Amino acid sequence: MMNETELEVKKIVCEAGKRLSTSGLVAGTWGNISCRVDDDTMVITPSGVNYDTASEADMVVVNLHNMEYQGQHKPSTEVGLHAKIYLTRKEVNAIIHTHSMNASTVAAARREVPPILDDMAQIVGPSIRVAEYALPGTKKITNNTVKALRGRNAVLMANHGALAVGRDIEEAFTTCLVLEKACKAFIEAEFMGGAKSINKFEAHIMHQYYLRKYSKKKR
Ligand SMILES: [Zn+2]
Repeated sequence: MMNETELEVKKIVCEAGKRLSTSGLVAGTWGNISCRVDDDTMVITPSGVNYDTASEADMVVVNLHNMEYQGQHKPSTEVGLHAKIYLTRKEVNAIIHTHSMNASTVAAARREVPPILDDMAQIVGPSIRVAEYALPGTKKITNNTVKALRGRNAVLMANHGALAVGRDIEEAFTTCLVLEKACKAFIEAEFMGGAKSINKFEAHIMHQYYLRKYSKKKR
C-alpha cells in the first residue's frame, strides 16, 4: 500500500514535470525529475510519458537500493543516476535533469564553467564541472556524474546535458535556471574576449554562506 508521504511526493513530482515542460529547459519528454521520499525511496517521472498530460498516478515510486519500482510505467532511464545521488548526498531531496540549450553547448565543448557570476557561485558552487562521457543509462555515467557533482549543486554531463539538485524542488528549479544562465554568460563572455573568473576561494565561501543562510528542511 502506498503511504501518505508517497502520494504527496508524487503530486510534487507531477507538478514539477508540467513546470519543466513549460520552462523551455527541455524539449518533449526529454529531461526528468525526482524527489526523495525517505532514505530508501524516491518518486521519479516515468519513461516516455508526456508531462503535460501525465497525472500523479503516472509517477513511479522506486527503491533506491535495488531499483524495484511500483506503478504502471517504467521509471525514467536515468533512474540509477538519481538513486545514487540520493544515497550519496543526504541533504539532496530533489533532482532535475535537463538537456537545456546553453548547458548542452558547454557540455559539448566539455569546458568546466569557472565562477563567473555571483549567483552561480552562491547557488551552484565554485565551478560547474563536466562529468566524463559515458553512454546514457549506464553505471559509468552514474559514477562519473556523482563524482563531478561533489561539492556542487549542479553538473554538466559531457555531450549530453545538465543535472541540478536541491534541498527541495524549488531550490532544484532555481539551480537549473542559474546553471543555464551561467552557461549562456560563459559562452557569450568567451566571444567577448574571454570570461573573467571570481577568485575560486571567495566563490567557495559564497557557496558555503548560501548553504547555511538558506538552510531548508522541507521537501
Ligand atoms: Zn538525459
